Amino acid sequence: METAEQTARSCGTCTLCCRLPEIAALEKPADAWCGHCSEGQGCAIYPDRPQLCRDFLCRWMRDPDVSEAWKPLTSKMLVYDQGPQVTVLVDPDHPTIWQQEPYSSDLKEWAQAAEARGHYVILFCGDDVVKIEPGVTASA
Ligand code: SF4
Ligand code: SF4
Repeated sequence: METAEQTARSCGTCTLCCRLPEIAALEKPADAWCGHCSEGQGCAIYPDRPQLCRDFLCRWMRDPDVSEAWKPLTSKMLVYDQGPQVTVLVDPDHPTIWQQEPYSSDLKEWAQAAEARGHYVILFCGDDVVKIEPGVTASA
């Protein structure tokens, strides 16, 4: 499995994956800071963080083909692959950002690529759940 040390990108001060997902093992609900996280500084127990945190890398960190616009600090979204599901978690403080470009077009293209493999893209924002419909956007 790829680790943060093996990718060309760096999390920097991003801590979105310590806030947006529900993490049952840490008794952390969705859209709430993990109790071990200092916003903008990172994990206070980094050397001893749980294995699931060590193993996690978002799609922007894993895939160099994902554009810089998707850097979570910029996009306010966390994207990761979970079996057949591509999960998109949107920061509820920015609930419409995924409908803006380049995100809207990229999401449709990801859904198109996912569908070709029998996969799908689901977006969560607060209590809203949206299945992204496949589509290809003509480039300008
Ligand atoms: S969301 Fe991605 S870039 Fe941000 S801390 Fe998590 S793995 Fe790193
Ligand atoms: S334990 Fe550390 S790395 Fe894991 S979610 Fe909490 S703050 Fe983030």
